[in-house]
Amino acid sequence: MKRIVIKVGSAVLTEKNRIAKERMLNLVTLIANLRQKYKVILVTSGAVAAGYSALKLDKRKLIGKRALAAAGQPILMTSYKKKFDIYEIDTAQILLTEDDFDSRKRTKMFQEIIDAHLNNDIIPIVNENDISSTPEQLFGDNDQLSANVTVATRAELLMILSDIDGYYDKNPHEHDDAKIFKTINEIPPEALLDDSTPNDPFATGGIVTKLKAADFLLKKGKSMLLCNGFDLTSAESFLLHDNHQLGTLFEPLNKNKKAD
Ligand code: ADP
Repeated sequence: MKRIVIKVGSAVLTEKNRIAKERMLNLVTLIANLRQKYKVILVTSGAVAAGYSALKLDKRKLIGKRALAAAGQPILMTSYKKKFDIYEIDTAQILLTEDDFDSRKRTKMFQEIIDAHLNNDIIPIVNENDISSTPEQLFGDNDQLSANVTVATRAELLMILSDIDGYYDKNPHEHDDAKIFKTINEIPPEALLDDSTPNDPFATGGIVTKLKAADFLLKKGKSMLLCNGFDLTSAESFLLHDNHQLGTLFEPLNKNKKAD
């Protein structure tokens, strides 16, 4: 069965400093439906925002952010568990840092753990472990973490669910005439240099981290779909019906190019 990684950002998962439970349920329902065709690995943001519902600290300060993430991670996982329980699906929590991808030994270890989960129909739920790591050990955003997870777990596609329909020629929140790209085969180097422009106060990525994730995957011969996480119709139609409606598909020109 094909493997895919789904990454959901805080813009989709949280609303007014809380977990957006209905949107989370819609995502869990989609994942439950996808299991007829795919083995799914979920990469999720939202711990810092979930922590904010328990304690009010300044997330811009390092200790504040870590304390929020530490308080929020179990809140986030409990919320997921309640929803996956509806479909009798078990989940596992995997917390990773950039270092986990640096050494072959460590990468192999979490690959094997994820393999064990997938072989037993358990959904691995991955997040960055920003509680005890030094800033140098962190990706700093789940977009690039999820791209690395995609390659390391030999998944064939990364789907990033965000608060926009895809990648536009300019920021659609600032320009009414922004046009969406349907397919991208190569990212121009200058697009990777733009300032990061997250839309949500809890988001750390913005479009540039998504483009960096796509660039990394394209160079490894893998694909990425950036699509809307508020309305999952385009995600579902792409994955279950091979119908690419909305959403930007980043796809290597030579799909068979060998990955490292
Ligand atoms: P998430 O929390 O889902 O990772 P972000 O807020 O980090 O989401 O990133 C998505 C935001 O990036 C969009 O809502 C939009 O405001 C911004 N953005 C800037 N430039 C573009 C662009 N060219 N195309 C799409 N989105 C863009």
